[in-house]
Amino acid sequence: MNKMNSFGLNVSAIKQNNRSLILKLLRDKGPLSRKDMAVYSGLTPAAVTNIVNEMINQKLLKETGHVSGNGKPGRRRILVDIDKSQKFIIGINIGTKKIALGVSDMDMNLLDYEEIEISDREHPEKLLMSLGNRVLRMLWELNIVKENVIGAGVGIVGSVDPENGKSNFSYGIWNESVNIREILQKQLGVRVVVENNVRALAISEFNLRRYSNVNNLIFVKHGPGLGSAVIVNRHLFYGSTNNAGEIGHMVIEKDGPVCRCGQKGCLEALISTDKIISEVSKKFGKDETPWLFSNRTLDDLKFEDIIQAYEKSDMGVQAVVEKVLDYLVLGITNVMKIFDPEKVILYGIMFKSDKVMKSLLKKIEELTSNTKASSKVEISNLDSKNKVIGGLSLVLERLFYEREAIFNKNNI
Ligand SMILES: [Zn+2]
Repeated sequence: MNKMNSFGLNVSAIKQNNRSLILKLLRDKGPLSRKDMAVYSGLTPAAVTNIVNEMINQKLLKETGHVSGNGKPGRRRILVDIDKSQKFIIGINIGTKKIALGVSDMDMNLLDYEEIEISDREHPEKLLMSLGNRVLRMLWELNIVKENVIGAGVGIVGSVDPENGKSNFSYGIWNESVNIREILQKQLGVRVVVENNVRALAISEFNLRRYSNVNNLIFVKHGPGLGSAVIVNRHLFYGSTNNAGEIGHMVIEKDGPVCRCGQKGCLEALISTDKIISEVSKKFGKDETPWLFSNRTLDDLKFEDIIQAYEKSDMGVQAVVEKVLDYLVLGITNVMKIFDPEKVILYGIMFKSDKVMKSLLKKIEELTSNTKASSKVEISNLDSKNKVIGGLSLVLERLFYEREAIFNKNNI
């Protein structure tokens, strides 16, 4: 998303680029001596020394010790690394049913975490203010001052304009365009980045795995909704209105069930966890779902239970899940045809089941008559219990390592 060109660069942008260069070098190869940083980055030793000293003063970097230069006496060099002990990150995820918030250290280890149910549809500003208050309380309880917070990353479902920090469409969390960044920045007093929740997860996945030879990737998240993010040439692909990759709203069945987006027959409407629970509920009984019937109650049926029943081969569940996988495979393979990615990463409880994955990969092979297609599909290794991981990664990537000018328009 970096829209700067060589004519638009100013001194502070150049300085930011250089800082970003050093931080990324240290992330990937650190700790390093100032001399090595100059060699790797192509910056002059004087420029490196300036940037490094400045960032040491800001407690972003620290000196970690010495190495002796090739065993030659008198050539000891001081090593520098990112100081992960002084700064903190705020992560927020706004889903249709729950909001998750957490504070972590620079390694994304959570220091505090909370999930709140969204009960009544509140006025957006009121909802965000009460969310902000909880974050401020968390920081206060952890004894963290704002000066030591790198920023807050917000992942939210639906259509997001990351450049302006706005949620434009959120499947009913609110019914208008909301400038999340403006409201939260004012309240928290720290910089805020906003992104679609699935794109935030894709950033997390891409950066945590440190892919070196993967340039194109599709990340698919299955849950109460179905979303995807597309990475093309190592950058998120947004499309003309920030809505690229909406795999969940591809129409798969003409005149199919009505989706929460208003269309009929969307992939999401056919395979969301809510849809699966509702379809299995219709079959619930000792004949079609004997394992579920003797181990669970219909009123309290959870998606995890259904996946367990699928593994135990409950006939009724089997039929529902296989049909869901058929639809999902149609969606995934169609998107693969368009973008021709090196990898497709799947995120969601369902994919943790070996039996689900086996069936899904087989269906991809059958549909594409190609074993190579299924070999590209992998399960995400992000911690699915930590719902703010996307938001935390956003802060690291966009406010710490990258500091792209495009996200700095509304500096506070
Ligand atoms: Zn839809």
